[in-house]
Amino acid sequence: MQAIQQSTFLKSSQFNKSSSSKKVVTSRRKATTTTKAMLSSSAGPATLEGYGSCSFKGAVADKYLKEQGYDASLLKDLSWPKNEAKAKAVAAALLSWATDNGAKQYSHWFQPMASAGVRHGNAGCLQMAMFDFDADGVPYPSFSHENLLQGETDGSSYPNGGLRATHTAGGYLSLDPLSPIFIREDTMYIPSCFVSYNGDALDEKTPMHRATEAMSSQGKRLLKLMGYNPEGDLINNIGLEQEIFLTTRSAFYNRPDLQFTGRTVMGKDAARGQELSDHYMAPISRATGAFETMKQIQAECYKIGILLKTRHREVAPNQYEFAPMFGNVINQIDQNLMVMQIIEEVASENGMAALLHEKPFAGINGSGKHNNWSIGTSTGVNLLNPKQLNKASGNAEIFPVIMAALVSAIDKHGDLMRLSIASPGNDFRLGAMEAPPAVMSTYLGSSLTEYLEQIKNGKMSEYSPEKKSLSFGAANVPDITVPAEDRNRTSPFPYGGARFEFRAAGSTQNVSLINTCLDSMAAEAFKIVADRIEGGEKPLDIAADLLKQHEKCIFNGNGYDPNWPDDAVKRGVWRIDSGVDAIDQLDSEKNVAMFSSIGVFSERELQARKSVLLTYYTGVVEMEALTMIDMINKHVIPSVKKADVGNPNKLNDGIKQIKSALKKIHGEENETKQAQMARSLRLETMADVRKVCDDFEAKVPAEHWTLATYDELLFLDTFPEGEMW
Ligand code: ADP
Ligand code: MG
Repeated sequence: MQAIQQSTFLKSSQFNKSSSSKKVVTSRRKATTTTKAMLSSSAGPATLEGYGSCSFKGAVADKYLKEQGYDASLLKDLSWPKNEAKAKAVAAALLSWATDNGAKQYSHWFQPMASAGVRHGNAGCLQMAMFDFDADGVPYPSFSHENLLQGETDGSSYPNGGLRATHTAGGYLSLDPLSPIFIREDTMYIPSCFVSYNGDALDEKTPMHRATEAMSSQGKRLLKLMGYNPEGDLINNIGLEQEIFLTTRSAFYNRPDLQFTGRTVMGKDAARGQELSDHYMAPISRATGAFETMKQIQAECYKIGILLKTRHREVAPNQYEFAPMFGNVINQIDQNLMVMQIIEEVASENGMAALLHEKPFAGINGSGKHNNWSIGTSTGVNLLNPKQLNKASGNAEIFPVIMAALVSAIDKHGDLMRLSIASPGNDFRLGAMEAPPAVMSTYLGSSLTEYLEQIKNGKMSEYSPEKKSLSFGAANVPDITVPAEDRNRTSPFPYGGARFEFRAAGSTQNVSLINTCLDSMAAEAFKIVADRIEGGEKPLDIAADLLKQHEKCIFNGNGYDPNWPDDAVKRGVWRIDSGVDAIDQLDSEKNVAMFSSIGVFSERELQARKSVLLTYYTGVVEMEALTMIDMINKHVIPSVKKADVGNPNKLNDGIKQIKSALKKIHGEENETKQAQMARSLRLETMADVRKVCDDFEAKVPAEHWTLATYDELLFLDTFPEGEMW
């Protein structure tokens, strides 16, 4: 410990020489001042003032729309952009609201393909001034409905997978009326969809809209055939649990790998890990900047209407989680992108670096983003909640039919679920004991499984699971009521009583592709059932038939059991270990047929998206490989030599192996093969080279080791930030 502290001290004096350290010190001071301010204000009453004020909806929008002769109900009818008078009124109201809230710029804010992970904020935007000069040079506020409704940008630098030639570079933006416009700093952001001149989707949002619309129209069709006709559209509701790591900014600046790639490509284990489970749900202590950072993150989110309800520590050292109140998938994804951006910004202002990567550190848990998924009506009836659905519809047959349809969708399209979570960072999580395996099964729990077994055998009853009372065995401690079924955390897609939870999603991901796949799969399944009912079959007979064919994907056992992946293959359940091989399935015959039958993706779009996903993957690995080479040359070899702890030849050999693998990748033309080669480079070759680096790190005395160590990166509590610089 003594040696480590000494090295920390030495490094801190190096930092003081660099310009970046000045930034850190300044922001650290800022953080301290804020903490004091918060302390004194904590004596006063809690206030919700300003919450939601920077999101143009509800009461906020109402005030400004009334000035234009309308009210906030205008925004609820999503067709308002098609009516010129209404669009003009909204633009005028927005200008007035923006001016009152300090915004002088506007920007169509969009989600280009492959923007996750590396790009800060995971979004694209071009910011435009919201004023003009008159003939006398006097400025006046200006923002028209034309400005509001659409945008055009040079999209040539965005990945398009061959959908557009470089010389025909236009990318076209249309406002998304489902997602509220919001203000941050001096800019008003207009969530938008992004397509090419031919209307091919170049973003994550457009297919998401198409998929929810397909799910809604096929779902409503099915419900109507079963006598239930809820008003409005069906909505896919999601709630995203965002996991992150916080580390000190000074240590972050001393890790080129974290800066360039988001993960450590080398680093010896710290002596302390998760042995005592002492981090999980522990108090978020004020002894470090983490608590202040988390509070500020929440406060910024509240301003733009993001209800980030839950905050807690996660299982690994320095790991934390936020979860919002769930809602419409389109809004939730926009909000999650902003949450990730705000996390990064606020962390940096508090002398911290937020790490959003799925696996920043080897040897301890990585980060996910559980994607809680359900389908509801516009009036809030949850179709996955049997009690609510039975009461609202008056037809107890609907729930088992929906469940059988969803089981059939999971069984048929497990490949799509697998590929939707194939982010490069997830390579290191899936299959380890921290995230479910690469087998796409669902856990339904024994009571629902038994119920569906009855349905399969033609015995209909109403499913209405009872809750149970739980005693603590002490007379003074009151009993509580809990669900009849325990929760399962080893299944990738467990049903939890009213929602499915896709637990394998990666923490950096824009979850649009995940939900586009889930909604499309549901849409197709609903369509198949509706077609069969129209063809004269009875709904329960169809449910029984679907269950017979597809129940093999229901697995209520331990998903971490080492025998399960092989057993799953024997059962015929989708298992794709390699994320790259999963991505390769995107434009398979089955998937082209499915997506085109419900109008979500054309074959061209699927091919393009696959190409973008593959080249993104290979690009990420290339950055990691080059960063590793640089770190070995600039840090590891000099340290080994200075400390005289052995012959660095093995390190030079490692560099040669990585370079030769990169050369082979560049020589390959097929994108799938390139990505497959990149995958073995990072999971095999680079893993071997890492071992050599980490063995040397164990031997080099602390004062000669020039990279931040795992000890320093992972234990805010042990290394107070003040002592790091
Ligand atoms: P966990 O216990 O799984 O860690 P959390 O409370 O941290 O759960 O997060 C659960 C997430 O699921 C929250 O974002 C919550 O709003 C969301 N959620 C709850 N019910 C539903 C539902 N019916 N549909 C979609 N998301 C839901
Ligand atoms: Mg969860």
